[in-house]
Amino acid sequence: MGKPQLEKGLVQVYTGDGKGKTTAAFGLALRAAGRGLKVYIIQFIKGGFDYGELHIIEKVPNVTLKAFGRGQFVTQIPPPEEDVKLAKEAFQLAKKVIGSGKYDLVILDEVNVALSLRLISTQQVLNLIKNKPSHVELVLTGRYAPPEIIEAADLVTEMREVKHPFRKGISPREGIEH
Ligand code: ATP
Ligand code: MG
Repeated sequence: MGKPQLEKGLVQVYTGDGKGKTTAAFGLALRAAGRGLKVYIIQFIKGGFDYGELHIIEKVPNVTLKAFGRGQFVTQIPPPEEDVKLAKEAFQLAKKVIGSGKYDLVILDEVNVALSLRLISTQQVLNLIKNKPSHVELVLTGRYAPPEIIEAADLVTEMREVKHPFRKGISPREGIEH
């Protein structure tokens, strides 16, 4: 699958309650793919939702995406068994994809939400960070990133909601919010 192209892969976190975390990660995927880096995107708690990016991302060379989830928001604590199972599957895939060293950029979209719902443990993700091959860049997105993850990261951006059209009753728009 070609040689790894980053001399040193870092750990990035996009968190906070403002819009732009997932779209920033997909923007980065595009940039990386354009430079010939191999990208793997794994989505936690998201499978079954229809987002515009899913209609085009697989057509982008060098990018692979796999989504896990039931197409329902997970809010219950303790979470339903099925959601725990899917998050564990997503995590196992993440471990395999990262450990293989075949991908230069690995994005775990909404993994922070899965952590905050305790679908997977923070320690598991910390181990993933610690044991990753050094050339792999890892991006962890989602609200509520735990402090331990923030501590372990090299780059942390917090999207803060200053204004969101949702507040004035504007519904999510196809092509913009999803
Ligand atoms: P995006 O996918 O647009 O980059 P995000 O990843 O930062 O947003 P999530 O927390 O994953 O945001 O939110 C899931 C959905 O809610 C997305 O459709 C997103 O556009 C929308 N959203 C994001 N921030 C807000 C907000 N502050 N209020 C209402 N809806 C939001
Ligand atoms: Mg998101």
